[in-house]
Amino acid sequence: MGRDVSGPEYLETRLTEWLGRFFDELGVRWESHEVLPGRSNVLARYDSPGAAVTLLLDAHQDTVPVDGMVIPPFEPVIRDGRLYGRGSCDVKGGMAAMLAAFARLVRERPAGAANVVMSCTCDEEATAQGVKALAGLWSGTDRPSALLPTPPDLALVAEPTGLNIIVAHKGAVRWKLRTKGRACHSSRPHEGNNAVYRMAEVLTALERYAAELPQMVPSHPLCGGATLSVGRILGGISVNTVPDECVIEIDRRVVPGEDPASVIGHVEGWLRERLDIDFEMLPPWLDGATLSDHNNHGWADRLMTHIAGVAGPHEKQGAWYGTNASRIATTGVPGLVFGPGSIDQAHTIDEWIDLQQLRQATEIYYQFCRNP
Ligand SMILES: [Zn+2]
Repeated sequence: MGRDVSGPEYLETRLTEWLGRFFDELGVRWESHEVLPGRSNVLARYDSPGAAVTLLLDAHQDTVPVDGMVIPPFEPVIRDGRLYGRGSCDVKGGMAAMLAAFARLVRERPAGAANVVMSCTCDEEATAQGVKALAGLWSGTDRPSALLPTPPDLALVAEPTGLNIIVAHKGAVRWKLRTKGRACHSSRPHEGNNAVYRMAEVLTALERYAAELPQMVPSHPLCGGATLSVGRILGGISVNTVPDECVIEIDRRVVPGEDPASVIGHVEGWLRERLDIDFEMLPPWLDGATLSDHNNHGWADRLMTHIAGVAGPHEKQGAWYGTNASRIATTGVPGLVFGPGSIDQAHTIDEWIDLQQLRQATEIYYQFCRNP
């Protein structure tokens, strides 16, 4: 996050092609939907005899850059019960477990199982266009698909939760704030207006705003409190020019129950009351969708029964990180996040996944689809 990961080396293309072959060999109906140039969601559907519900299993195809990794990122190695490699934990492990459970359903066709739509979405790590397009299939913002003509009853999203269930999580609103000044030669700075100095005032104020947030926004029992952080700053063209513009990038974590559409306006109003500075808020590129636990408890309880049967007692939890489940939840479909591996190993320089958890997750996904 926070850096450009749109280059071809980061695209999902090869995995997307592999998924097409996988579903062809399995003999199921599948579709590929291009969401961004060269970047596609892949959907496959299993129709179960006598199904009462339709489950959506979602895992994202993309991962994060490999800079600084201390293991070969794309040469998987198994050692001491772990599989090492970029994406092993976040979230190819979870995807592989879902695909294995899906394939077993297709082969065994157990009576009374759910209909299952497997979605392998693109662009989760950057701007979540993949899951937005997916949810658009049934919410009417995208053209419909025969594979998902009506909303699923539940979306189960794979992320490394350590076999616990995430029932709620925060969302992130991200936007740029720009200060404006007047450029001039640095030998006569009094003739200009230094936008970097103006930004320094904004930054000091924002640090205070962040410190006061816990008093302004009630914290969520599972997810904790709202936060604000400034992560990037960009200003000036050369040391001998007084800068006329400075830009920062702001990350504001929203808790379930908060209205994400109101947070930028609140920050802006708070700053304008305190500062007499020419600044502007640019439109957000992340809109802060959260996963709320108001409508998913029955599903979580049934999933928990299967988890306990395979892997012993686990917990319902809130999370500090965002997932595709929030985008799906904005359409009214209940969402749960569940998968093998620990979030502590996601995006790390020696990313790995525990193979025992991987096998257990596969069995749990299967049992849940068989008896939802
Ligand atoms: Zn992930």
